[in-house]
Amino acid sequence: MPATISVKTGSRIDMIDITSQVSAQVSKSGVTDGICVVYVPHTTGGVTINEGADPAVCADIIRKLNELVPPNDRYRHMEGNSDSHIKTSIIGSSVTVIVENSRLVLGTWQKVFFCEFDGPRSRKVYVKILKG
Ligand code: ZN
Repeated sequence: MPATISVKTGSRIDMIDITSQVSAQVSKSGVTDGICVVYVPHTTGGVTINEGADPAVCADIIRKLNELVPPNDRYRHMEGNSDSHIKTSIIGSSVTVIVENSRLVLGTWQKVFFCEFDGPRSRKVYVKILKG
């Protein structure tokens, strides 16, 4: 199994900064230069990179996703969480970050966010670091 980060989400839709947990996995791997893949093995939760300095950015992303994909529409999926599946596909299930000098190469304002779309739940995020 790849290295795993556990995330507890607090509401139905949520964006949680997991940058420090991903960085910890990079340190633990011993890889100084390479590629870090962050992968979410869920169908109603994803991962993205965006601004972490102003929490209003995440609030705006969540509000806009809810406008674009409302919880109730003429969905066919019987489980009642089609909006969660659709939001997950829009956001995506993985991100790739360059690793240099044992650190994630992120822009000044960038953070890695786990995106919950059908919480609250306990979630897993896989991290694989490749030397190269
Ligand atoms: Zn479903």
